[in-house]
Amino acid sequence: MSFNFRQTRPLRMSFGCRRAWRKIQTPAIEAMDFFLQALAFFYGICVGSFLNVCIYRLPEHLSIVKPRSRCPQCGTPIAFYDNIPVISFLLLAGRCRHCRARISWRYPLIETATGLCALLLVRRFGFSLPALIYFALIAALITVTFIDIDHRIIPDVITLPGIVLGFGAAFGLPTVSALDSLLGIAAGGGSLLAVAWIYQLVTHKNGMGGGDIKLLAMIGAFTGVAGVIFTLFVASLVGSLAGFVLVAAQKKRSLKLAVAFGPFLSLAAAIYVFAGPQLIAWYFGMLS
Ligand SMILES: [Zn+2]
Repeated sequence: MSFNFRQTRPLRMSFGCRRAWRKIQTPAIEAMDFFLQALAFFYGICVGSFLNVCIYRLPEHLSIVKPRSRCPQCGTPIAFYDNIPVISFLLLAGRCRHCRARISWRYPLIETATGLCALLLVRRFGFSLPALIYFALIAALITVTFIDIDHRIIPDVITLPGIVLGFGAAFGLPTVSALDSLLGIAAGGGSLLAVAWIYQLVTHKNGMGGGDIKLLAMIGAFTGVAGVIFTLFVASLVGSLAGFVLVAAQKKRSLKLAVAFGPFLSLAAAIYVFAGPQLIAWYFGMLS
């Protein structure tokens, strides 16, 4: 279900009319394209604003629909005109209107990042069902990333419905079959479950969180087995590199540094959505 503007053309036209149409066709289509992409970016920013609410409230088991957002410092409810994504932050110079307390730069960052993802998805997949499905996955991944950074948990309330949604989405994606989605869930959950089990057997400690297992199962539901293998490979690579950098940057060199794995799994899955098959082809091209 995709809409291609380049195929839009009036049906019967006289020669003169056709010539006139050709003259305005290209700029008109370009203007329309630009407008729709700007719309996708703006939509993404608004969703990002909602993700900020989820990131703040889900771990606290608060409702994500009410009450209205308040300043965490002075408790004043934030008026609608001070709650416009990104713009309000810039107008207020990153401070609360009432108590002048600093507002975290993370709010506009998450909004802008979500907007950029929406824009890139539309440029990559057009205004199509796959773009919408992948946007839902990316939105879940962004939420999981920041909740994991803040609280070291990945809420089941995101990943468990995500697994079901991902399986359903397989029927709307041309690249993932329902069977591939089921295998992706099994491979994603199973591989990390095995890692956790071996880790516990060797060290008698809990290393891998159950949240990571369910997160990779959700990623597998959306991307299939290939997505799981790619995600696990890239997340481990980037995660261990980041681990080394963090340990090296530490003053007291101790390896007892726990890094949340969820953000790396999320980042790797997002890379797979945008460029996974191309990167896999490039990697195997290098080997041969
Ligand atoms: Zn305030």
